[in-house]
Amino acid sequence: MAIHLSTPVSGLPGNGDKAAADFASIGIKTVRDLLWYVPFRYDDFSRREMIAKVPFNIPVTIDAIVKSIKLRPGKGRMTIIDAVIEDESGELKVIWFNQPYLVKTLPVGSRHSFAGLVDYRFGKTLSNPIHEPMGRNVNTGRIVPVYSLTGSLTMRKLRESMQRSLSVVDTLPDWLPQEIVLSEKLPTLSHALLNVHFPNSHEELNRAIDRLKFDELFLHQMLFDEVRRDRKIKNATPIAIDEQALKTFVDSLPFQLTKAQKLAAWEIVQDLSKPVPMNRLLEGDVGSGKTVVAAIAAHTVSKSPLLTKEGARGRSLVAYLAPTEILAAQQERSFFKSLKDSRVALLTRSRQMLNGEVCKKTDVIDALSNGEVDCLIGTHAILQDGIDLSRLALVVVDEQHRFGVEQRHALLERDPNHAPHLLSMTATPIPRSLALTIYGDLELSILDELPKGRKPIGTAIVPEQHREDMWKHVRSEISSGRQVFVVCPLIDPSDALGSRSVMDVEKMLKKILTGVRIGVLHGKLKSDEKQKRNEDFRDGKIDVLVSTTVVEVGVDVPNATVMVIMSAERFGLAQLHQLRGRVGRSDMQSYCYLLPDDASPISSQRLQAVVDSQNGFELAEKDLQLRGAGNVFGNAQSGFPDFKFATTADVPLMKLSRDWAMKLLEDASFFEAHPLVRERIEEALEQIHLE
Ligand code: ADP
Ligand code: MG
Repeated sequence: MAIHLSTPVSGLPGNGDKAAADFASIGIKTVRDLLWYVPFRYDDFSRREMIAKVPFNIPVTIDAIVKSIKLRPGKGRMTIIDAVIEDESGELKVIWFNQPYLVKTLPVGSRHSFAGLVDYRFGKTLSNPIHEPMGRNVNTGRIVPVYSLTGSLTMRKLRESMQRSLSVVDTLPDWLPQEIVLSEKLPTLSHALLNVHFPNSHEELNRAIDRLKFDELFLHQMLFDEVRRDRKIKNATPIAIDEQALKTFVDSLPFQLTKAQKLAAWEIVQDLSKPVPMNRLLEGDVGSGKTVVAAIAAHTVSKSPLLTKEGARGRSLVAYLAPTEILAAQQERSFFKSLKDSRVALLTRSRQMLNGEVCKKTDVIDALSNGEVDCLIGTHAILQDGIDLSRLALVVVDEQHRFGVEQRHALLERDPNHAPHLLSMTATPIPRSLALTIYGDLELSILDELPKGRKPIGTAIVPEQHREDMWKHVRSEISSGRQVFVVCPLIDPSDALGSRSVMDVEKMLKKILTGVRIGVLHGKLKSDEKQKRNEDFRDGKIDVLVSTTVVEVGVDVPNATVMVIMSAERFGLAQLHQLRGRVGRSDMQSYCYLLPDDASPISSQRLQAVVDSQNGFELAEKDLQLRGAGNVFGNAQSGFPDFKFATTADVPLMKLSRDWAMKLLEDASFFEAHPLVRERIEEALEQIHLE
């Protein structure tokens, strides 16, 4: 059957309804979507050897004939397959665990390629190799892609589907201007995608990755340019500085601001007083106290009349955009408490509030239209049509890297003449020079100190034999009234034998921590259940919260003192650091325990880095060193979740993309000559996924 880019994945051979549903659950509906589902790492089985020359403990592929194959029972319910394979040079023992069907798949006399490692655990043996008919070259004999899996999807099936899909990759239009492709000697888009999935060599892989990184960075520059040009010609409402009111507000806080917070707040207030739109990034490690700085800005603005050329239009509106519903609800509470004489509203898909009371969505929408809200907190649900943001004077974007340029654009560019001030906040440590390269003209405030009295978080890698003691410690913390986070990875790549899910861990903890109140929180719960679970944890009605990384951003429960991270090697360093930042938010001693499933030398090294450093900047650097460019993709790990491929290390490519963007945009007819670029930008701008 002929396939094309828009063929549904269910139309690929071997994919039934179940597979289609599993693909859909990770956002893949068509062949085109599948092509963009990139591996998270590779296994290099490109080295082929004769049996006599097979190296020890190095990945190889062996083409051989099955000489004998037998099934025998192992310990418990385990089954073992013992086989011998041979080629002209000799024989080799092969062993497989729990794959009894192989006796049928690999009959004596059949020829196959076997890929894996030879070790000496059971005498010189190839253990658990991958196999396929000789000459197939999809799962063996090459650099093999390893994808994240979910549901019933198997690696084999995914690779097969991918191979099929790649047969039409050439029909994907290449949007990047030819002049760039030619002068930078980049591979074409289809060539790059082909090599990202099934690389011919490491060199080709790196070239492919560079091309895809360049695409992201170039598109980003194009989008930024749209925003940049717009903002240059627009004016903003100047907010008069009322020092007395500012002081009163700061004095009303339950703590003293750090020096860094004071400085940042002052820089922001000064920007706000100007008639040009503020564009400031507030950067601070987890727990450095960014929220209160934003609250000061919000307080200043929400009391100020909105002056325009046409005269006053009532009080100004502040919008605070949070990346998750949980975070939005948390910030609503914190703003409602601290901004005493402002009218605060919450708007997310599943929950709406006005002045501290739960209400209907239409109530919030009406209140906004009637000018009865001073501070609107929400997720990107606030970007829906029909929501009156005409009084918007300040936009605060929390954890800004969670939002695409597109969403920022949608909030900022509503009015052709007027733009709100923008305060973005991030815990991603970006050096100043890099920030300028990525974000263009922007001011930076950095919170480089933690509030007084914070103790370093005791961090340890906990091997299997020490887990019992660790859970004892967890129990003792609970007995003294503290709370505990337990985080599990979201998707279980199938190659992880012991990867833990939230449900597994909950079950296990019910046994280990009898009598303790355990709650679960993950993406599949309904929104209001999530909300409830989160509130219960915040209010101390749950002792242990077992969750996916939904707690990663921003959640603030100062009474929690222990963070346990299951399958810790599955997370990026930046993410581990963020997760750890959920504890140590008071002056109580806190702990972070990293529980790896598999301790490969590289993952041990990465986890050790988290033990050794509590500094986000240092860890980001370390992450890059250990990872080496191009080995791992994935939003959560790149440090720039706008991007799938580009990372903080790609400064030269960022500069290159910026230079090209600036050069090409000098030509007023650029877009006329490059309709595909225009199309790509429009597409990106439209991708405002409503929750
Ligand atoms: P983040 O920068 O990670 O967003 P938050 O703004 O959530 O950090 O602040 C972390 C915690 O520290 C909160 O509980 C907040 O109330 C508290 N906090 C913020 N500033 C100070 C301060 N100057 N002194 C003491 N506690 C503070
Ligand atoms: Mg925060």
